[in-house]
Amino acid sequence: MNIYWGDLHVHSNCSDGRRSPAACLESAREAGLDFCAMTDYVDHVPKSRYGLLPSDSWERIQTAVREAERPGEFAALLGFERSVPSWDGQTPGSLCVYYRTDSGPLPTSRHPQRDWLRPGAIRPDEDMRSLWDELAETECLKCIVHSCSARQGYTWTAAPGEYEIDLVEVYSKWGACETQDCTFPVVDGSGRPPRPGGWVRDALAAGFRVGLIGGSNTHFGYPGSDLWENDWANAARYDKSGLTAVLAEELTRDAVFQALRDRRCYATTRERIQLDFTVNGQPMGSMLAGQDRLRIRVHVVGTRPVKRIEVFRNGEPAHHKIGGREDLDMVFDDPAPDEPTWYYARVTQTGEDLAWSSPIWIDP
Ligand SMILES: [Zn+2]
Repeated sequence: MNIYWGDLHVHSNCSDGRRSPAACLESAREAGLDFCAMTDYVDHVPKSRYGLLPSDSWERIQTAVREAERPGEFAALLGFERSVPSWDGQTPGSLCVYYRTDSGPLPTSRHPQRDWLRPGAIRPDEDMRSLWDELAETECLKCIVHSCSARQGYTWTAAPGEYEIDLVEVYSKWGACETQDCTFPVVDGSGRPPRPGGWVRDALAAGFRVGLIGGSNTHFGYPGSDLWENDWANAARYDKSGLTAVLAEELTRDAVFQALRDRRCYATTRERIQLDFTVNGQPMGSMLAGQDRLRIRVHVVGTRPVKRIEVFRNGEPAHHKIGGREDLDMVFDDPAPDEPTWYYARVTQTGEDLAWSSPIWIDP
């Protein structure tokens, strides 16, 4: 398997970003990224300067994605971002959807943005069900982004499990969503603290089996950059893009999509930290059952000396290793659990850059 690097959260001037989809994808390639997804808003653009995503924009996005794909060199993914219920009865959540192919339906926007701020205007189950129905015939992946945001987050602890989610964005320029005490947390422009129940760990504890990804959420149109973006709609809190690494056989749209589908992916704070996390030789994202014992292995090659590797079991610290050099390996054994259990690894290297693996789930 090879590691490929990309940005899965990019806005163009087809919704509330500044540059064309083609320019965004060109910049992604010039920045040395291997893949990039376009995720323009279908709705929820407050007082847009460019207007909401009209049908010809969807054509422009699809064309740009189709023309940017260069098998073996660069993969372009088609997607969109849309408001979904956050299950707190008051605010919208944000969902990015990625398609396997370079064309697909554009789901309708059922509500203008103001509806999300009017109590009672949204019927969460009805809204969610209609979107899920619209996407039922399309091969796609659903990713909740900035879930711990107070303004546009997702209350995992209240979210019905029937709406399956494939991926969760653990870091973007808005901040990190891993857990309450994480470095770089998402704090809204309004200064409101993160959303209770909106952490990635809450999702995992609630039984969502999601892969972890990173993105920029760029509105300036420079995927994977370290520009601080003081844009009109979304002032980024941090300058560094999140990046997603996928473990794939080849660099094509289809192979990247499949890696994301299998949760063979991890997130970093822009540094290209190599992270290999396995249980009994199976890669991150795996679901294992009927194991006699667990051999858990983490191998990291940092871009600077690795300070520590931590492995969490059901959200609690389980094992760690203190580093001091770029190349660090840790191996430990755990007994097979007698209840569903999840592990993930977090790497911290000097300069406080982080990498988060997708989890591995162990069923008895
Ligand atoms: Zn976005």
